[in-house]
Amino acid sequence: MSCNQGNPLSRIPAVEKVLHALGTGDGAEGLPRPLVASVVREEIDGLRERVRQVDDLNVDFDSVVASIRARLTSLERSRIRPVINGTGVIIHTNLGRIPMSAATVESMNRSGRFYNSLEFDLGTGERGARGGFLERCLGLICEAEAATVVNNCASALVLMLKHLAKGERNEVIISRGELIEIGGGFRVPDILEASGAVLREVGATNKTSLQDYAAAIGPRTGMILKVHRSNFYQEGFVDEAELEELVALGRDHDLPVVEDLGSGAMIPTESLAPIPHEPTVAERLRRGLDLVCVSGDKLMGGPQAGIIAGRADLVAGLKQEPFFRALRCDKLILSGLEQVAIEYLGGGEVPDLPLTQMLAARVEEDLRPRAERIHETLKPLGVRIGEGVSRCGGGTMPKAEIPSLTLDIH
Ligand SMILES: *Cc1c(COP(=O)(O)O)cnc(C)c1O
Repeated sequence: MSCNQGNPLSRIPAVEKVLHALGTGDGAEGLPRPLVASVVREEIDGLRERVRQVDDLNVDFDSVVASIRARLTSLERSRIRPVINGTGVIIHTNLGRIPMSAATVESMNRSGRFYNSLEFDLGTGERGARGGFLERCLGLICEAEAATVVNNCASALVLMLKHLAKGERNEVIISRGELIEIGGGFRVPDILEASGAVLREVGATNKTSLQDYAAAIGPRTGMILKVHRSNFYQEGFVDEAELEELVALGRDHDLPVVEDLGSGAMIPTESLAPIPHEPTVAERLRRGLDLVCVSGDKLMGGPQAGIIAGRADLVAGLKQEPFFRALRCDKLILSGLEQVAIEYLGGGEVPDLPLTQMLAARVEEDLRPRAERIHETLKPLGVRIGEGVSRCGGGTMPKAEIPSLTLDIH
C-alpha cells in the first residue's frame, strides 16, 4: 500500500497503526510494548525528517513495517543470552569472561531468591559483618593476614590509590614499563589520575632499577605501585628491580609497596595445563608485598569481583574509606564468590570450576570423546576433527598455548 498524494507529512503512518500492524507476540519479537513503541516512534520520526528533505519520497507502509521489524529483531538480539564459545579463547571478555560453576550459581540463587544473613549474625541475633566469612576464606587462599572484596580489580586499584596516595603524600611511584593498558579503555596512568594520585614514573620502558625507584622517593611519596604485565611480554634487553629489594626500599621509607596483579591465579597454572607459571597472590605476598589486588573472574574462575589481600592494618584502612561503600559487592556476588572460595579450600587437585576444568582438560582422555560426540551430530555439515591450541585470553597469559582439538567446518 502506497500513499503518495497531498501533504508529504500525511503520508507518514501513525504510530498506533504501525503498532497494530506489528501485532503482539511474534511481530513485536516478544519485547515489552513501551520498548516496541519507542522503536516505532524513532523510525517514524526519522521518516518524517526524510520526507521534509526529499519531497517526493515514496513511503510504503509495508516496507516501513518491515524495516521496524528488522530493528526490533536486532534489538531483541542485543539482550544478553547464552552463546557457544567456538573461539578457542577460554577467558573471553566479550562473551562474559567465563562460565561459573553450577554450585556458584546455586549459591547466588539461594541468596537471591530468599532473605539471607548478608549482614546479620545468626549466632548473636545482632547486625553482622558483610562478607566476613568470605574474607576469612580469601585470607587463607591468598595466605594473607586479611582480604576484602570490591566490584572488580579496576575498582580495587582505585580504592588502594585513594587510600594510600592522598593529601600531602599523593605521589605514586611506578615503572615506565608498567604504565600499561589492560583493555576496555583501562589505562593505568589514567586510573591513577582519576583517583587523585600524582603519577611519578621512573626508569625506562624496558629497564627500571632499584636506584630509579629510590631516587624518586620524596616527602610527597605515598606508595610504590607495581602493575603485572598480564596481557603482554617483554623480552630481550629487559630488567626490573628485585621485588624483595623494592619491598625493603619501601620499608625503609615507610611506604607501602602494592601490586595490581590482575589475572588472579590462586593456584599454580602449570599444575593445570602445560602452560607457563603465572604468579599467584600468595607467592607475591610471601615475597613481601603489602597489598595485592586481582580479578575474581579471570584465572580465579569466579564472578566479577576485585580481591584485595595483604596486611591487616591496610585492609582495615581500605574498608574505612568512604569510597569503599561505593564499590561494595552485593549479596549475589558475595555468595557466589563464597562458593568459589570453598572450592579452592576443598583440597581437590583441580577446583571444580568450569575455568579450571577447561584448563585441565586432557586432549585424548577428555576432549577427544567430546569432539567425537559433536562430530557425530554435525557430520552432515562436513565437520572434521583437527588439532590446535586454546588460549587463556581475557588479558591473561598471552603466550600460553594449551593443546586442544578443533572442529573444522569445511
Ligand atoms: C584485567 C586487569 C585489571 C582489570 O580487572 P577487572 O576485574 O576487569 O576490573 C586490572 N589490572 C590488571 C593488571 C589486569 O590484568
